[in-house]
This record gives sequence, structure tokens and C-alpha cells, in this order.
Amino acid sequence: MADQQPLSPLCPTCDMQVDLELAHKSLPFCSERCRLLDLGRWLNEEHALPCEAQDSEEEDNSPATTPRLPPGWHDA
Ligand SMILES: [Zn+2]
Repeated sequence: MADQQPLSPLCPTCDMQVDLELAHKSLPFCSERCRLLDLGRWLNEEHALPCEAQDSEEEDNSPATTPRLPPGWHDA
């Protein structure tokens, strides 16, 4: 059982396996660089508020769906 390694997590930034020994300072990222990258991305998203949220016109004019009650619901 020589090659049975403990399951190492994947770096959230680059999806590489994190070397727990090398990256113990930057966990859960594989490196300091990835840690900073993620932090930067996170901050960017924080600033770019989604005013332009997906404004796909709602042409999905589904008729007011009348809830279908099961037969015999009223003579309970
Ligand atoms: Zn990484």
C-alpha cells in the first residue's frame, strides 16, 4: 500500500491538488499565489455589484397556473 496517499484537497483557484506539506501556510489553496488570486477575485466581485443582473425579458408568460386539487379534496 505504498501509493495510498491521503486524499488531498483541490485548490479552489487552480484545481490542482494541494500539497498539504508545502501549502500548509496557504490552505486551502495550493500556494500563496492562489490564495491571493482568490482573495482578489473575491474582492472584485464584492465591488462589482450585480446591478446588471441577468435581465432576460420574462417572456415566459405562463398562464396563471390554477392549482389542481386532487379529486375529492373538498369532501374531506
Ligand atoms: Zn492553486
